[in-house]
Amino acid sequence: MHTYQMYINGQGCDPISGTWFDSMDPYTGECWASIPRGNADDVEMAVDAAHKAFESEAWCGLTATARGKMVKKFGKILLDNAEKLAAIEVRDNGKLYTEVVNQCRYMTEWFEYYGGLADKVEGAVPPIDKPNVLNYTRYEPLGVCACITPWNSPLLLLAWKLAPALAAGNTVVIKPSEYTSASTIELAKLSELAGFPPGVINVVTGYSSEVGEPLVAHKKVKKIAFTGGEEGGRKVNIAGAADFKKVTLELGGKSANIVFDDADLDQALNGVISGIFAASGQTCIAGSRLLLQDSIHDEFVDRLISETKKVRIGNGLDKVDMGPMVSSKERDRYEKLLTDASNQGANAITGGGRPAEFNQGWFVDATVLVDCSSDMDIFNNESFGPVAPICKVSDFDEALTLANNSQYALGANIYTKDLSEGIRATEELDGGMVWVNAPLLDNDAGPFGGSKMSGIGRQLGPEGIDTFRETKMIMIDPDSKPQDFWWFPYSDNEMYPNEK
Ligand code: NAD
Repeated sequence: MHTYQMYINGQGCDPISGTWFDSMDPYTGECWASIPRGNADDVEMAVDAAHKAFESEAWCGLTATARGKMVKKFGKILLDNAEKLAAIEVRDNGKLYTEVVNQCRYMTEWFEYYGGLADKVEGAVPPIDKPNVLNYTRYEPLGVCACITPWNSPLLLLAWKLAPALAAGNTVVIKPSEYTSASTIELAKLSELAGFPPGVINVVTGYSSEVGEPLVAHKKVKKIAFTGGEEGGRKVNIAGAADFKKVTLELGGKSANIVFDDADLDQALNGVISGIFAASGQTCIAGSRLLLQDSIHDEFVDRLISETKKVRIGNGLDKVDMGPMVSSKERDRYEKLLTDASNQGANAITGGGRPAEFNQGWFVDATVLVDCSSDMDIFNNESFGPVAPICKVSDFDEALTLANNSQYALGANIYTKDLSEGIRATEELDGGMVWVNAPLLDNDAGPFGGSKMSGIGRQLGPEGIDTFRETKMIMIDPDSKPQDFWWFPYSDNEMYPNEK
């Protein structure tokens, strides 16, 4: 059993409450670590440390180049520690070690990308209709940023926030999910090796009501970068609005997987399986609605069933395809969704229950559901579990109409060999991301995010750093002369000097 401390102002801290809570291993269902139960007082301490660091010469006195080098060095340190961080994260969320270790190795790319961008962000010198006046813009950091992360990919989703926030010159207070705090604490400790001054990176652990809410409401927090569910996202947005904080929200999804009859069915099958069963379906971009053109429906479903039956379930540290769900609470929620689907007429042709071989941990079967209709809850609500509900569609237009008939708009996958139809789909489908024969590919230089109930704003790429800085416009008149008392920029004299 490991007992963790929070990380505030460059050092490990016990919680002011003097209490810790259990972090559970989803494979065994038993506690493996004790996590500090933070509260508003710890938040106050962390925000104060971050605010002082933001104003300190040690941080704000750095040139953008020096800051960028520090961010890149941090990425390299994370790469060197990827295996250690991944092993901790698997204990917390039960995902496959192979997926998590590759995510941890890949994190270095975002620190490279934003570290490199730190001194390549250029302002502008707009033309100005006034003789001799110099007008230019500069970008400035915002101050203390709150980074709030979920349990499904804690470090990866933190890297998407932390790297641009630091590269832009901000300081951060991180609030990880109460289910998966340990890897974030370890990451913060490693930041010392990169040379970040104390207070630049802080972590307060605990529950959303005791840590998350006071953090987002804090007056000195200028930006909230949140990844999580709809309910938390809405509350965070409302809290941020009180002080007009900048808020980015990466929320849930119900991404359609549309397979047309001219698709490469082998490729589509692989994309559909990894899209819904990877991470036990616990990803925001999971392809959790399957729309099959009726002429290939039966063949595709047969092949999907036979592959689904081969899914190996077990400990994420072993050679398996699917680990457990993150918590008993999540499993209960997901199982209720399946029961409701069955009551509404859907049929699980494979899966639908719990694998018999485990009498511990929070395992569920990989499941394929047929006889679904687009008005069922399973087809409209985020399932965040390993279930593929299937609907037939007759043609392209019906597929797009159904796909767009959703409260979410995060991503959509299309499988077709007809690229002109594929391109039409990219234009007509709602969603921040559309993949055509390219299931779930991502790009650190491209924007990630959604609209409708899937969130506000984008992470990654140049847009990812824009949300962590402010633009200032500057005017300098080197030949400034005294103006008339009633001089005004849009007076007749100014606008029409020849008509005096
Ligand atoms: P969650 O909303 O319950 O919690 C996310 C984080 O927010 C946690 O740290 C939690 O403590 C905190 N939080 C919750 N309510 C808060 C509040 N009112 N104020 C401040 N902090 C608060 O989400 P979760 O269950 O941890 O994660 C699953 C959800 O995350 C799913 O809906 C999934 O789709 C979404 N997600 C989205 C993306 C994306 O990029 N779009 C990526 C991963 C996960």
